[in-house]
Parts: sequence; C-alpha cells; structure tokens
Amino acid sequence: MSKVALITGASRGIGAATARLLAQQGYRLCLNYLREAARAEALAEELSARGAEILTVQADLAEESEVVRLFQTLDRRFGSLDALVNNAGILLPQSRVEDLDAARINRLLTTNVTSQFLCCREAVRRMSHRHGGRGGAIVNVSSAAARLGSPHEYVDYAASKGAIDTLTRGLALEVAGEGIRVNCVRPGFIHTEMHGDGGEPGRVARLAPQLPMGRGGEPVEVAAAIRWLLGDEASYVTGAFIDLAGGR
Ligand code: NDP
Repeated sequence: MSKVALITGASRGIGAATARLLAQQGYRLCLNYLREAARAEALAEELSARGAEILTVQADLAEESEVVRLFQTLDRRFGSLDALVNNAGILLPQSRVEDLDAARINRLLTTNVTSQFLCCREAVRRMSHRHGGRGGAIVNVSSAAARLGSPHEYVDYAASKGAIDTLTRGLALEVAGEGIRVNCVRPGFIHTEMHGDGGEPGRVARLAPQLPMGRGGEPVEVAAAIRWLLGDEASYVTGAFIDLAGGR
C-alpha cells in the first residue's frame, strides 16, 4: 500500500508544489487548506486525474479542535499516516516591533507555532512505535527569517520560525528511538503570494539582486527538499535543517 502524507496549507505556494511532487512519488495525500477551497479542489482534481488518491480537508489549524478534526478525518479515509508536512503559516503586514500589539503577536504565534506543535502531537500519536505505530517522517517548514530576524519587516514572524527550529530539534531527539524522523526546511525569498499578505507582493523581486544567487526561489525548489527529507534516501537524517534561501 502506498504511503499517506498530510500537507497543511496545500492550497497554494510551497504546499501545493509539495503536493504535486509527492503525488508523483505515489503518496496518497490529505491536503489541508483554510480559505482557498476552489484552489484546493482544483489541485485535487489535477492530481486525481493523474491517478493520485486525494482527500481535501478545510480546517483552521489555529484552533485545536480543528486540528483534531483534520486528523480524525484523515484516519477515517486512510487509516494511517506516514508523513506530515507542517507547512501552513501566515505573514502579517510589515511593521516595526515598537508598533506591534498583543493581538497580532498572539495571532501569528498561534497560527505559525501552536498549530505546528499540535500537528506534530497528532502525528506522533499515530506514527510512534510507543503508540503501536509503524514510524514516519515529519518536515516542519520554518524560514531563513529564523536566522535573519527580519528587522523592519516582521520580527514577530521571524520569532515564530525560531520556535519551529527549536520544536524540530527537540522533537527529533524525543522521538528518534520511536521510528520517527523530524526535519526542517528553512526557505527564504520564494516566489509565492505570501509576500502580498505581508504588504509587498513584489518583495522577492526587490530583494533578488541583493541575494548571493541573484534570484528568488521557486516553490518547487523547496518542495524537492521536503520530498527528499520525507523519503527513504534520508533514512539516517533527523533533527536536520536544509536552508533554501539562495545563499543568504
Ligand atoms: P502561502 O501564503 O502561499 O500559503 C500559505 C498556506 O497556508 C495556504 O494554503 C493557506 O490556506 C494556509 N493557511 C494559512 N493559515 C492557515 C490556517 N490557520 N489553517 C490552515 N491553513 C492555513 O505561503 P507560502 O507557500 O509562501 O509559505 C508556506 C510556508 O513556507 C509557510 O509556513 C511560510 O511561513 C514558509 N515560508 C515561506 C517563504 C516564502 O518566501 N514564500 C519563506 C520562508 C518560509 P488558504 O490559502 O486556503 O487560506
């Protein structure tokens, strides 16, 4: 039976690119999204037409009950889970730290950090040998921002990704002996619509000339690293980070 993967935030961007690569590999996929139902369904149709087995689930992962419902829906359809891509995340409009308020900071941390913790929790409960599972692999999507800090733009977002790096390291060690590998990708400057949500749709094009490689990245370039980390070729890799930020 082919492996089952859950990709959070799969309606567009890096999540959608990852869905395309994992479908090519023969994974059965659960694609989560928040608002973009039409795009998630169009992607599911595209992949189904190529023979993939796809389940789409709308769920707001900032809500614990929604995370639980997502995994229960996946259980009913597939009955097992081999891979989790913890990808969903948000960026809020560019702002200096002195202008942030608690409501914004907490919204960002709940969506970017709490949700990834909860998805890891649900995945471990299903994958761990400790719970009778057959093992699995988790890839958390962090950001180069965790290293760079994103001054003058979004230090709150950067801090949320710093937490994802720590989650990755800690969880990887916690479950290393239970059949689960936990790794992380740290993209940066990838051409997606997320930068529009940050208030600057052309941000990657603006910054590209300053990057060592002189260009922004494509979602599929991140997806390829995720696919490798999930797969058997990475069987001895855990607690590791792959930076995909053109040398920055
Ligand atoms: P996009 O904004 O293109 O996509 C984000 C995805 O997350 C969408 O599918 C969206 O769903 C989903 N999502 C947002 N909030 C929630 C929520 N509360 N519950 C469930 N799903 C949610 O972003 P990217 O593809 O650019 O980014 C993907 C990941 O990569 C994020 O974690 C981001 O922080 C990270 N990243 C991106 C970089 C870049 O340059 N693009 C750089 C570094 C890291 P919907 O569309 O249905 O609302």
